[in-house]
Amino acid sequence: MNPTPPSSPPAGGSFHVEHASQETLIDCPRCGGTSFVPWATVRDHSITKEDFQVVDCATCGFRSTNPRPTQNAAGRYYQGDAYISHSNSNSSLQDKLYHLARRWGLRRKYGIIHSLQPNGKVLDVGCGTGEFLAYLMSRGYLVQGVEPSLKAREQVIANHSIAVLPALDMVAAHEQFQVVTLWHVLEHLPDLRSTFKRLFSLLADRGSLIIAVPDRGSWDAEHYGTDWAAWDVPRHLSHFRQEDVHLLLREHGFELIATRRMWMDAPYICTLSESYRDATKPWALLKGVLLGSWSNVLSALSGRPTSSSLYIARKAEP
Ligand SMILES: [Zn+2]
Repeated sequence: MNPTPPSSPPAGGSFHVEHASQETLIDCPRCGGTSFVPWATVRDHSITKEDFQVVDCATCGFRSTNPRPTQNAAGRYYQGDAYISHSNSNSSLQDKLYHLARRWGLRRKYGIIHSLQPNGKVLDVGCGTGEFLAYLMSRGYLVQGVEPSLKAREQVIANHSIAVLPALDMVAAHEQFQVVTLWHVLEHLPDLRSTFKRLFSLLADRGSLIIAVPDRGSWDAEHYGTDWAAWDVPRHLSHFRQEDVHLLLREHGFELIATRRMWMDAPYICTLSESYRDATKPWALLKGVLLGSWSNVLSALSGRPTSSSLYIARKAEP
């Protein structure tokens, strides 16, 4: 992506570079509006402890981290193995529970895909170390991954022999997938509109697009305010409401099939949020699990979104 100088007319998702490591959006990644209202200062609790500004578009209300690290500088915010989502160790009770939850998660994701497209080719954007793609492959799907982390890509190739590329732009233009998935990835991507255009062109006719992102309309987002762990600045560049994703899908030629709740995320996000408020509290884990469950109960009773939402869409008829 080439930065656009501030003198250029605003185009979708353009920005100018403040200094070597930071860039400022000059128009809204969703609607192109050029006026922003500050929302809050949010801390990178998990890695650098640096503060970042989060702003709302004055036109459409879309929320972004702004300024944000340039793509070249973003690496230091993903440092270490912590963000290579999946350890393969299996020793402690925590590891065993993690692996159990992962297995359950894989089956659930597979169930969604199988109900939409019983066979064909699947592209997983942000595939991590490739466990989901390996699971699909074992059930007869053709699979390909996109993953920016070199270390994770090496594991995908070494452990599963699955084709994986560093960026969505590098997937061959002639490829056509029956399903494209982005599990907690869209919020990390710097240019939403070019991403949606690319997703549209890579999907076969009537192909399915599956997106999971944190939902700032959830009760836990409101309860924790700037301590909500799913702001996850500056790794998360966009902070979605359901209406934002619905509009983005419609504007880019997709038909929304379903918006679903994700029950597993709230206890995890609430526990992390509690630890950000005070890591020394011995009851952070218990309180996080209880409040996460409460967020889920409120969602079930009131129709409010869960901590994250899942969107299932289809490439609309031309
Ligand atoms: Zn906007």
